[in-house]
Amino acid sequence: MSNLLDGIKPTLLMGPGPSCVYDEVYAALGKPTIGHLDPYFIKIMDAVKEDLMAAIGTGNHLTMPMSGTGSSGMETCFVNLVEPGDKVLILTNGVFGKRMEDVAGRLGAEVDSVHFEWGTPVLLEEVEKKLKGKSYAIVAVVHAETSTGVRNPVAEVGRLVRSSGALYLVDCVTSLGGIPVRMDEWGADALYSGTQKCLSCPPGLAPLSFSDRAVNRVKARKSKVPNWYLDLTMIMHYWEGNTRAYHHTAPINMIYALYAALRHFLEEGQDKAHARHQDAHERLVAGLEKLGISMYVDKASRLPMLNAVTIPQGVDDAGVRSRLLKEYGIEIGNGLGTLAGKIWRIGLMGHTARPENVDRLLAALASCIK
Ligand SMILES: *Cc1c(COP(=O)(O)O)cnc(C)c1O
Repeated sequence: MSNLLDGIKPTLLMGPGPSCVYDEVYAALGKPTIGHLDPYFIKIMDAVKEDLMAAIGTGNHLTMPMSGTGSSGMETCFVNLVEPGDKVLILTNGVFGKRMEDVAGRLGAEVDSVHFEWGTPVLLEEVEKKLKGKSYAIVAVVHAETSTGVRNPVAEVGRLVRSSGALYLVDCVTSLGGIPVRMDEWGADALYSGTQKCLSCPPGLAPLSFSDRAVNRVKARKSKVPNWYLDLTMIMHYWEGNTRAYHHTAPINMIYALYAALRHFLEEGQDKAHARHQDAHERLVAGLEKLGISMYVDKASRLPMLNAVTIPQGVDDAGVRSRLLKEYGIEIGNGLGTLAGKIWRIGLMGHTARPENVDRLLAALASCIK
């Protein structure tokens, strides 16, 4: 019987995620599976929690990975914090802000939003205007908008949100590992991420953290959290304290993988890892310029790990992407929504963000667009 797994070709992952996985992370996935209540596994959970706190810059006790991809982190934040009728403000400038609106709306929140043009950042003046005289339960924003390659000013937005009294929710799925994430400095109350972007793990977990204010909001709910699987009031008893009550079986080997990825990030040093992303980004931008390809986003708000580039006139979008994959073993991303056919999204996330990978892509791209 043929084994499909034997046919998997290693791919240089330069799209919007997943990114290339570290060897230590692959090795971690292959370690023996032990019980999810085994004292040795609980030691690993505690270490993951501590490393996550360092990586996202928080002292929050409620910090842990949710079982599920980045979107499960998004869903967990809203499902625990929103009660029907709550006013929620989403600052939207791409696909993931829209996804937040959808998620919050399904929970019965009264969703309000400010939309910014895709490819441009959230503007503080607009946020300030919107917040004036209103009381929102939650204000949410995406730090690194993976659909457009834009970095949003989350620290500055945080100051505005704080003085409005709302809880502040930040999506750090693509930012964590690639640019500084400092949850407590930003005054964020709820934050989630994912493993397959700049942490260079396979997809499967969503690091998450809640401030004491957010935890108190959950505890003060009038109604039960309407989703059993993502209910933090139950899950926290598995991740904290001495009881370690069973809720659902932890994805044990994925937790090993996250452990290995976080160690890699912290041992390299956060500043060094961020600088490596920036260097790779600058090398890419310079190389693309030589090929006559320009960036879609203004320099001031470009993300290093997600490069939105304008597809040159007359170039076949899907054709080039498919040649890159088939002939060169390189994956890049397409544009989404209104940017479909207009941009490519070139990811330099985590392990992928290295000069040799940038050079390999530039050479391949040069021959594809010739
Ligand atoms: C990828 C991503 C998500 C969703 O994560 P999944 O792992 O695909 O569920 C959410 N927000 C942002 C900004 C992302 O880049």
